[in-house]
Amino acid sequence: MKRAELDCIVCPASCRITVELSEEGRVVSVSGNGCRRGAQYAGTELTAPVRMVTGTVPVEGGLIKRLPVVTSAPVPKGRIFDVMKEIHHIHVCAPVAVGDIIRENLCGLGVELKAARTVGRKGEP
Ligand code: SF4
Repeated sequence: MKRAELDCIVCPASCRITVELSEEGRVVSVSGNGCRRGAQYAGTELTAPVRMVTGTVPVEGGLIKRLPVVTSAPVPKGRIFDVMKEIHHIHVCAPVAVGDIIRENLCGLGVELKAARTVGRKGEP
């Protein structure tokens, strides 16, 4: 049996969570969590960690030069570099509305890249 401790990052309470894992890496018990979300976070973090990815891409003709973007769902931590590399090659044309899909199926992960804000076109009201 292995034992791991981590701070939950789901909410500001930052509970200190203890997880016991079997030799095969399966979660056997979780303690110290203040709610079920923390138990789920801790289990995922120790077995298959994921993260939301944010970034910016250039906007052609926009009122601002770069559009903030965010993934529609968390991606495996081990694929973040690949996702960032793909985002690095994307550019968009204004106007863009918050929530617009900028890229589908990022890195084949079944996750979309979405606009995190609206950007109007230069010279338009
Ligand atoms: S376990 Fe629950 S209460 Fe504690 S930090 Fe995580 S989300 Fe917040």
